[in-house]
Amino acid sequence: MVSLVLVAGAGGFIGGQLVRDLEQQGIAVRAVDRKPIEDWYYRSLKAENLVLDLKDIESCNISTQGVTQVYNLAADMGGMGFIEHNKALCMLSVLINTHLLMASRDNGVERFFFASSACVYPDYRQGEIAIEPLKESDAYPAAAEDGYGWEKLFSERMCRHFREDYGIRTRIARYHNVYGPYGTWDGGREKAPAAICRKVATALIDGGKRIEIWGDGEQTRSFMYIDDCLKGSQMLMRSDFDAPLNIGSDEMVSINQLLDIVEAIAGARLRRSYKLDAPTGVRGRNSDNTLIKKSLNWAPSISLREGMEKTYRWIYDQAKARAEGRPFVAAYE
Ligand code: NAD
Repeated sequence: MVSLVLVAGAGGFIGGQLVRDLEQQGIAVRAVDRKPIEDWYYRSLKAENLVLDLKDIESCNISTQGVTQVYNLAADMGGMGFIEHNKALCMLSVLINTHLLMASRDNGVERFFFASSACVYPDYRQGEIAIEPLKESDAYPAAAEDGYGWEKLFSERMCRHFREDYGIRTRIARYHNVYGPYGTWDGGREKAPAAICRKVATALIDGGKRIEIWGDGEQTRSFMYIDDCLKGSQMLMRSDFDAPLNIGSDEMVSINQLLDIVEAIAGARLRRSYKLDAPTGVRGRNSDNTLIKKSLNWAPSISLREGMEKTYRWIYDQAKARAEGRPFVAAYE
């Protein structure tokens, strides 16, 4: 029986939305993040909200007491601009997952979810725009994204060994780019969908006519809307599937096509300038959803157009509020 669920990284984008979703199902939540509570994207008035640094084992012990399930969504992360320049910081997230696993074992946690990433996949499979979608077995022989991706791959294996040796039912999702409202949209950690929404919104607010794109804009990705991410994560947690599983959209677009979508939503047309020396990551990436369909009988399906409508609207409101000197206000419920 699920009594109390820990959401680690609850002040962040996916964690905050997961707290809200679990509570809507009547599940009691302990929400933990290291950020000051006024900076959380979503603050529940019902959850037990704790500000703790989960790199510290004692914080993990406090957080997992009386808990039956743990969702570990806490990590130092960001878009390519962040992970290419903060490799040591990204690798230090290994302390969060390791200490959370140890504390979960000691406190009798039954199920443990780890948010891994498509960055575990080797760059030798992602060198072309029109690549084969990545299937789970492609992760080896390993050549993960340096720093961030290696930490995820190592932590995946740590989860596996805690399951084999101590019996915790660990579940591992390899998320492919997640986007939506209530996430990072500026400051250097934002990912491409949020960055493009902000740039278009800011141009409209300020009367700008140009937009800067990182790289030549032909690099390809798939982007998963947050509602699909929440659904898939909980389905995986409740399932018997214990190997790493892609949770991602298989609607692949180039960054130029993503901008076309945002411009159509905003009713704008901007002159594009390409910053060719900016960090862009691998050339092409898409999710192969064969295994998720087989194991969960489900796959992400919300279209990019539908998800970006909601995301653009939220980011436009944030950019407008900032331009008018109004402070950020988190969602409360
Ligand atoms: P996010 O940055 O919005 O949230 C992460 C949260 O973890 C932040 O609020 C941060 O303060 C918190 N955190 C970091 N270090 C901590 C610590 N030591 N103790 C306590 N809290 C700490 O990121 P997100 O987009 O919500 O991502 C959640 C998880 O999913 C991360 O593990 C991330 O690597 C993974 N992931 C996300 C994506 C994506 O596209 N968003 C893709 C692949 C994987």
